[in-house]
Amino acid sequence: MMAYKCERCGAPLEVSPETIVAVCSYCGYPNHISGNITVENIALIPSLDKNSIAKAFWDSVEHDFDLKRIRDSIEIVEIEGYYTPYWVGNVHVEGDVDYTVREEECETYTDSQGNTQTRCHTVEKHYHDYVNEVLRLIGSARRQVRSFGVDDLLRHYSKTKPAEKPLVKLGEGEWEKLKLEILNTEIDENQARLMMREDAIDVIRNRYSSKADRIDRFDVRADEPENVHLVLLPMWTVYYKFENSIYHSVFAGWDGKRIASTEPMSTLRRAEYMGGVVLGILIGAIGSAYGASIASYALSGIALGLGSVLSGYFGFKVLEGQRIERGG
Ligand SMILES: [Zn+2]
Repeated sequence: MMAYKCERCGAPLEVSPETIVAVCSYCGYPNHISGNITVENIALIPSLDKNSIAKAFWDSVEHDFDLKRIRDSIEIVEIEGYYTPYWVGNVHVEGDVDYTVREEECETYTDSQGNTQTRCHTVEKHYHDYVNEVLRLIGSARRQVRSFGVDDLLRHYSKTKPAEKPLVKLGEGEWEKLKLEILNTEIDENQARLMMREDAIDVIRNRYSSKADRIDRFDVRADEPENVHLVLLPMWTVYYKFENSIYHSVFAGWDGKRIASTEPMSTLRRAEYMGGVVLGILIGAIGSAYGASIASYALSGIALGLGSVLSGYFGFKVLEGQRIERGG
């Protein structure tokens, strides 16, 4: 077994057989260990410190209707933070899609008794789209299943667009202030590029599966991803105790926003939820009866579409689909 040392400061590095890049825990320098990666392309979103996250937790308790009433019985058990690596990049997709949508067409007429009547029938409408856009994708650079709150973290990241800092440019002093445990990167740039192209096609396909009743032709190509880089996102979990049970809240490290949470349910809330469940069953029953009576294909189409969007091992997600005009 070979011992790895930091290129910049010589400190020993923790390296596993899957490690692609090892960030030195003393000086923050990213060391290339295996696979295809350019250390200059690794950026970090600076995190708040532990005390600020504790404060953010208590602020969130103050602003939560249910938690506020039990705040004196809440106790923080542990606060855990780390940076998780994600691959980010832009993929240009272009091509043709032909699809069919069944639509209801109605007309009113006057019958022989002089009454106004409505007559409806289903028609198939054919559409053609020329797809030409750039998708911004982000996906985990780790192989394991995503943990609680990660989807919310990525959504919040795309909304807030926090500033990145190239890791190689961080001085040791600056690193000392920002340092947190960094989860290992296990997927290199070549693999990430491959996954991005596949996922970009899937994103477009899923978009049409959810709005069309039938896709007649799907001829969309994805270009080589651009501006591909690795971003380390800080995520904090606050574990807290209430009446012998442990709950947790997840916070975005860059702005201390609570993005996901498990919470004790108050007696009042529980009663409300039960009421909601009963109401939900009623609406569901009425809704499906109604849906069946008008033969709504769209409803089942939407459900299928949503389900398929969530599939995919690597789990790249679209952050924003921006239409970009391309000349020539
Ligand atoms: Zn070092």
